[in-house]
Amino acid sequence: MKTRTAVIFGAVVVAASMTTGARANRGGALAGLGVFGNLANLITARQSTGTIAFTNVNVIPMDADRVLRSQTVIVQGDRIRDMGPTSKIRVPSGATRIDGSGKYLMPGLAEMHGHMPGGDLEETVMFLYVANGVTTVRGMLGQDFHLELRRKAQAGEIIAPTLYMAGPSFNGNSVSSPEQAAEMVRRQKAEGWDLLKIHPGLTVPEYDAMASTAAEVGIRFGGHVPADVGLRHAIEMGQETFDHLDGFIEYLDAFDRPIDEEQLDELVALVKGTGAWVVPTMVLWDVGIIGRGDARAMENYSEMRYWPARGVAGWSERQAARARAASQDPERADLWANNRMHVLKALADGGAGVLMGTDSPQIFSVPGFSLHREMEAMAEAGMTPYQILVSGTQAVGEYFSRQDSFGTVAIGRRADLILLNSNPLRDIGNVQDRAGVMLRGRWLPEDMIQSRLAEIEQRFATDR
Ligand SMILES: [Zn+2]
Repeated sequence: MKTRTAVIFGAVVVAASMTTGARANRGGALAGLGVFGNLANLITARQSTGTIAFTNVNVIPMDADRVLRSQTVIVQGDRIRDMGPTSKIRVPSGATRIDGSGKYLMPGLAEMHGHMPGGDLEETVMFLYVANGVTTVRGMLGQDFHLELRRKAQAGEIIAPTLYMAGPSFNGNSVSSPEQAAEMVRRQKAEGWDLLKIHPGLTVPEYDAMASTAAEVGIRFGGHVPADVGLRHAIEMGQETFDHLDGFIEYLDAFDRPIDEEQLDELVALVKGTGAWVVPTMVLWDVGIIGRGDARAMENYSEMRYWPARGVAGWSERQAARARAASQDPERADLWANNRMHVLKALADGGAGVLMGTDSPQIFSVPGFSLHREMEAMAEAGMTPYQILVSGTQAVGEYFSRQDSFGTVAIGRRADLILLNSNPLRDIGNVQDRAGVMLRGRWLPEDMIQSRLAEIEQRFATDR
């Protein structure tokens, strides 16, 4: 029991220090934003507006495991207006044409467990997401400025994914009674948050008051599973997302023993049956909680150049403590990690909802870039490229279907797209082989993305 609590709280500590760290970065790392400001204007100015046509492109619609050859896709405003074989679709006069010959057009990706530091890092983080083809982010720890950030993103005042925001956390400190929990639900609903974020520490009566009030006022909730509540009760009370696979290894009692297959089958059926989702954040748990992974190698990931050096140093320090614990009992660490992979594969193969997420910026996870690391980890767990892409596209559209229509390439969908030079269904690594990103109908060619990334790198380099 001790381990479980420690593990669960580990995540909270990690999340809390992330916020503090980000705040500490406000003053220094990005002081003097003139260069950024100018570049942002340049990008906005050069962005094509009006009608855009991708011609002769291979479309990966993500409604099924298939590729549609030689398609023309017409985008007007923020929507896909028309698509079909290039031989049949007429490109409106005056449309900007993008030659898609030999290329692949897929839906934009989503970070379903993201964080958004403020201050000087705010716009940079938004751009790092977009630069990696992340066109939707579900923020999972509300801070005051997030509602305004969501508005600015929506209005196109900054280059940012479409944002859906969880409110400030429900946890053992912020919740003191069932009545107060219910009041907090009503207040967050009235303030306009998209969902409630659950952390450890709630009692069962508090959790139940939160859940029934959420159902009453019509706001969804997700995140962690408070230890007193447990996975089964949380599923039954309508918790929609189980982030980090929280509660699963506890439920299966599989920290240091193999998983009981019958019990796992039953659990997969329960999750599938209730329509709950998991956001596994495999890399975060492996590195930041279990303590596996080589800190030196991670410090040298190429994307670390897009993050303040002292932020990376802080990640190394925090990971070191975990790594020391893991080195005490490497067999247990491996078994725990392998059991998590086994659970993820069983959920994916069993048709339960899996959503892609990384908890960035977190330990060695640079926003946007971390999604590619996560996709590798999902592949290592045995998921197919199609299953992995579903978790970041089609499944996300399904999760947000009450808000908007996106996540597949089809007429009427929000025009969030990634144009690739090679087929991601063949090799998931090809998601990084980009030719450009379309964000709500705004086209960002790869050369523009790279030049702004170079500016960010330079900014952080002079800060070292
Ligand atoms: Zn988080």
